[in-house]
Amino acid sequence: MRAVVIGEPGGVERLELCDVERPVAGPGQVLVRVRAVGVCHRDLLDREGRYPFMKRPVVTGHEFAGEVVEVGAGAGLAVGDRVVNLHRGPCGACEACRAGEETRCSGSLASFGLTVDGGYAEFVAADASALVALPAAVPFEQGAFLFCTAAVALRALRSRARLEGGETVLITGASGGVGIHAVQIARILGARVVAITSRAEKRAALIAAGADDVVVAGPAAFQREVLARTGGVHVALELVGEPTFNATLRSLRPGGRMVVVGNVTASRVEVTPGWLIMREAAILGSVSASRHDLADVLEWAARGRLKPVVAAVLPLAQARAAQGRVAAQDVIGRIVLVP
Ligand SMILES: [Zn+2]
Ligand SMILES: [Zn+2]
Repeated sequence: MRAVVIGEPGGVERLELCDVERPVAGPGQVLVRVRAVGVCHRDLLDREGRYPFMKRPVVTGHEFAGEVVEVGAGAGLAVGDRVVNLHRGPCGACEACRAGEETRCSGSLASFGLTVDGGYAEFVAADASALVALPAAVPFEQGAFLFCTAAVALRALRSRARLEGGETVLITGASGGVGIHAVQIARILGARVVAITSRAEKRAALIAAGADDVVVAGPAAFQREVLARTGGVHVALELVGEPTFNATLRSLRPGGRMVVVGNVTASRVEVTPGWLIMREAAILGSVSASRHDLADVLEWAARGRLKPVVAAVLPLAQARAAQGRVAAQDVIGRIVLVP
């Protein structure tokens, strides 16, 4: 089968479309024929070698949707089932899993595109526990990326920030794949949304996605504008990382909660403890999402409440060009590759 394989870390030239052996569904696994795979900013970090535990070579990609074509022993799915993947299947047995906190699972290390082969391929062998049914009303090109975008935003806002209806949410990097869906998720949860973008040409797309207000500003300079317009936000969703971190923190009102999800540059940040103390500000981390979060966003997409934003659908052979566009921030929503 054809697959995009990463060997040594490096630039887009490291993405090689190769002929590799078609995988086989082991016990508890199914073989999925990939119909679409999302191009995530994390794919760039994977390719650059930011994760030392990554297996090499590896088939990259962690946002796929497709059909089950082969069922391993005890997998509990059927040929023809439409499925999308979680980042990794929870073990179901560790203390976190038993407490219903599957994103904190310590028993499963099978992470697509990192420790097991991922979705930039014609087929992927996946643990059945890492898959969720994709409703017939959601096309593969839209379903592929809803876990790593909308469901991630839903966990951050609902489970971590405990966002309540009527509160104001600030979202940085708002036109990216997570951001443009986070705007919609925050609206579905009843919040008012202030979207931050560095590029004026993205304002219209953010308004169309449901943002109540858009601030166009450089990464470190938006807090004054946000405070002037809102008096400070209740919740901030930090999707960028170091470049916007302190401006986001300083956009909070007293008692505000900031949830850190994005870490685009993987750089350290400096925080002034006195500011946290005097403002009683909370800084929270949020990783991935649960099966329950994904089921909710898929249902909203199936009913048309959530509108997945597909930036482009390209053949798998154009993986290099697709990642180049993500690196250049020349994307609103998600680019999808089709094997
Ligand atoms: Zn992703
Ligand atoms: Zn577990």
